[in-house]
Amino acid sequence: MDLIERRYLTDAWHDLGASFDVVTPTTGEPLGRAADCGPDEAKQAIDVAWNAFESWRATSPFERAQILRRWHGLIMDHQEELGRLMVHEMGKPLREARGEVAYAASFVEWYAEEGKRVYGEWIPSHTGGKRLMAIRQPVGPAYAVTPWNFPAAMLTRKAAPALAAGCTMIVKPAEQTPFTALRLAELWLEAGGPAGTLQVLPTNDPAALTGVMMADPRIRKVTFTGSTEVGRILYRQSAETIKKLSLELGGHAPYLVFDDADLEKAVREVTACKFRNAGQTCVCTNRIYVQDGIHDDFVAAFADSVRGLKLGDPLSDGTDIGPLVDAQGMAKVEDHVADAVGRGAQVVVGGSRREGLYYEPTLLVGVEPGMKLLEEETFGPVAPLLRFATEDEAIARANATPYGLAAYLYTRDLSRALRVAEALEYGIVGINDGIPAVAHAPFGGVKQSGIGREGGPWGIDEYLETKYLSLGIG
Ligand code: NAD
Repeated sequence: MDLIERRYLTDAWHDLGASFDVVTPTTGEPLGRAADCGPDEAKQAIDVAWNAFESWRATSPFERAQILRRWHGLIMDHQEELGRLMVHEMGKPLREARGEVAYAASFVEWYAEEGKRVYGEWIPSHTGGKRLMAIRQPVGPAYAVTPWNFPAAMLTRKAAPALAAGCTMIVKPAEQTPFTALRLAELWLEAGGPAGTLQVLPTNDPAALTGVMMADPRIRKVTFTGSTEVGRILYRQSAETIKKLSLELGGHAPYLVFDDADLEKAVREVTACKFRNAGQTCVCTNRIYVQDGIHDDFVAAFADSVRGLKLGDPLSDGTDIGPLVDAQGMAKVEDHVADAVGRGAQVVVGGSRREGLYYEPTLLVGVEPGMKLLEEETFGPVAPLLRFATEDEAIARANATPYGLAAYLYTRDLSRALRVAEALEYGIVGINDGIPAVAHAPFGGVKQSGIGREGGPWGIDEYLETKYLSLGIG
């Protein structure tokens, strides 16, 4: 794929002299050059977002819905093209990339309708001389910072509710994946999205561009998906102008497999949960706790399942695991495995790097507290397996982390399922379900995994303010 693009989008396409290389992790070859937007482009974008907001907020939600529905249709019409683009940019297998496009489009479809249901309330009055109402209005221009691991879905999960609510949005995509964001914005314009309502500014210096956005009081909302470390910076910066804020941050998901689990299904779900996107998702399990009675059988069956995963060219249909996103990601995975093995963990499957950015699907046992992969997100195809004896112990160990995004459990006991799910300090709990995320359900974390929710009615609330109207009629 020969993709050269130095453009960025405000209320029109611009070519920029300053640009940076985007490299494909599939081969390490250059993919293209992206516009390197800086503080000047950021200021220009804020002016555009502010001006476009005036008319977009006044556009009826039904009209906005028509445009969103057309955008949904266009994204699906370009499913293959967008899927392949993502494979080139960040290396996920094509099968998964096609799935991501459908998932990304599902947010657009859902919020096209939800925008029509931004209802207000009539509040019973304490006196006959007054009538009280609450209405909901768009918060204003929003700034979104998105990660590379879901280049399409993380954009639409933010832009669809924002645009449906009547907000305008400026997106800063990750350095690794600017082209998917630009293409989605191009389709938004093709769908009839008014100029300036959705802008995309790639940059190779995210801190400089974001600094301008964070300092400007006209940016009323910031939405971020990425690491807890960067989330903390944005949280701090948003205090200056008291911006509304949503943070979807890192996770460290435990998977609890109880003795009474259906072994075959549990192995299938844990494999899917751990290894999709080569383990590079915030909700991939990072530690698998298996109860004593089922432990040995589970290890044997899970090892077979991991051995069966095909590592290779992400554009080939049979591939389960593609390359890691970049050298930094590879270094972290290698470091975590070396640290664990150095402290006594045993490799059951995999454990090595292949040529390029490819890392073998790996299963480790004998994992102990204190090892790096139990403290930090590995973000790679490495499954650390631990054992436990009792339900209370499993809950305590699952909760012993600063993170609280997703947790999973496998059991056939309904009482235990609810008991454990209620005790887990996580924003999302998959019960006999390794892949729970959908557009119409709330997605987000507690503790240091974030603030706010995306998806469903919760997701559009993040772009709305409540205004109280008191009408004296006496
Ligand atoms: P990252 O935080 O380094 O990068 C994410 C985004 O932040 C990128 O667009 C990047 O350009 C930008 N960024 C980096 N430094 C910045 C700064 N100083 N100021 C402003 N923006 C800056 O994260 P990453 O390692 O690329 O992505 C993986 C992380 O994202 C993982 O921690 C993962 O768990 C998390 N994630 C969370 C969710 C969720 O919904 N909770 C979803 C996907 C990924």
